[in-house]
Amino acid sequence: MPKEKIIIIGSGPAGMACAFTLSKSARPCVIIERDDAPGGFCQTVDFYNYLFDIGGHRFISKSEEIKRLWQDVMGDDLLKVKRVSRIYYRKRYFNYPLSFGNTFYNLNPLEGFYCVISYLKSKYFNNNKENTVEEWIVSRFGKRLFQIFFKTYTEKVWGVACQNISADWAKQRIRGLSLRVAMQKAIFRMAKNTPKTLSEEFYYPKRGPGEFYRRLKDFSSGKGSQFIFGKEVVSIAHASGKITAVFWEDKSHGQRLEMPVDYLFSSMPLPLLVKSLQPAAPDYVLQAAGKLKFRSFIAVNIILDRAEIFSDQWLYIHSPEVKLARVQNYKNWSPHMVEDPNKTTLGLEYFCDEEDRIWKMNDVDLIGYAVEELERIGITSRRHLINAFVVRRTYAYPIYYLDYQENVKILRDYLSQFSNMQTMGRSGLFCYDNSDHALLTGIYAARNFLGDGYFDVWSVNTDERYLES
Ligand SMILES: Cc1cc2nc3c(=O)[nH]c(=O)nc-3n(C[C@H](O)[C@H](O)[C@H](O)COP(=O)(O)OP(=O)(O)OC[C@H]3O[C@@H](n4cnc5c(N)ncnc54)[C@H](O)[C@@H]3O)c2cc1C
Repeated sequence: MPKEKIIIIGSGPAGMACAFTLSKSARPCVIIERDDAPGGFCQTVDFYNYLFDIGGHRFISKSEEIKRLWQDVMGDDLLKVKRVSRIYYRKRYFNYPLSFGNTFYNLNPLEGFYCVISYLKSKYFNNNKENTVEEWIVSRFGKRLFQIFFKTYTEKVWGVACQNISADWAKQRIRGLSLRVAMQKAIFRMAKNTPKTLSEEFYYPKRGPGEFYRRLKDFSSGKGSQFIFGKEVVSIAHASGKITAVFWEDKSHGQRLEMPVDYLFSSMPLPLLVKSLQPAAPDYVLQAAGKLKFRSFIAVNIILDRAEIFSDQWLYIHSPEVKLARVQNYKNWSPHMVEDPNKTTLGLEYFCDEEDRIWKMNDVDLIGYAVEELERIGITSRRHLINAFVVRRTYAYPIYYLDYQENVKILRDYLSQFSNMQTMGRSGLFCYDNSDHALLTGIYAARNFLGDGYFDVWSVNTDERYLES
């Protein structure tokens, strides 16, 4: 067995798929993970026998390879779930994905009329520019529907106006959808190539996605791979176009340790990877890295003494009067997520920056704030609250500012000089991806190393993606 030291930074989907592929080929590796469990954003948190995702995580993919992997690893523990999700807006619920009949039934007739006029105006008198999220959506739905169904939620996700976000995000998230398609579907029931965001079913492990990653870890450990949890890679040394060592820090002891590297796979955020290189990258590269930003994520997870609250897996909260953006209802994902079927668990989701007041609130205040918002929009009352906890995560969403592609290219070109390193995964490639794509990039990076062909992880087939925030 080769003796080289293969290191993987991060045990999220990309890192775990990479470790699994290498371990299967008898090339054990060392996985260094900042957190104390595998799965990255796809972990499932156990809170007094109630299970919570870090934001509900559907298993959806167009890739047969990934679907097979989920099935092989999970067997009978993989459920097929019929998707139910709606938008809450101004005290009304709208089906999402939008359906023509339901949307116009819920809007008053005059508003519905204005929406159609606004759509026709955008269709026939549009300036044909589609660079920003706003331009892209308006050209497909009209300004009025954009303002009702897309503007507030999109701005909650990104924290900036829709004119400042690249249309790339909308293309990925709602590609194939338009008012015309929704009308066709409703009136003629004839839309043959159902767009990808209209996916009506998904897979979900009985006890949440974290179980899948635990099983990948057990497999890889069984083949000799070593997992080092609770350690953060803070610096990466290189010389003559090769990575030579990683330095990681044990937060609890403040210790810094060095591990020599023969080959490095990284799923840490792309700008942080570049900033951690020693000797330091040139100024123009560091400047580009500084311009690549991420949005953070908070889940206020609560247990309520009510058997039923709503029947959806999740609700999008578009109402501008609250910061709350999405509400997960985990027993509707899988009944195994709750210990007692007479209780309901909800994940109240917020998107924010680390400078925001909500990020800086202590947990008790934050729980009070979130439950008050939930009460304000009439979903439930605080008197049902039994227990709660907060999950905060940075680097949740790579922000597609209008110049993000230029900056990613600068980093990518710079990193291409290192012959023994590959970057992979969602934040590792600065790409707004789902977990299936992250898994594929991990598998492909491993295959490149193993010499099983050449796969460009930067352009893993975009057609294979389903995306939604
Ligand atoms: C709220 C939310 C909801 C989502 N919903 C879905 C969904 O329904 N379906 C779906 O398929 N996808 C969903 N996604 C996307 C999915 O979570 C990602 O595509 C996936 O987690 C990316 O995997 P990754 O391995 O690239 O990164 P991550 O999951 O971010 O894992 C990276 C890992 O690297 C570790 N790490 C980072 N830096 C260091 C360091 N310096 N040293 C050591 N360790 C480090 C991190 O701790 C982390 O464990 C969602 C994402 C979010 C934020």
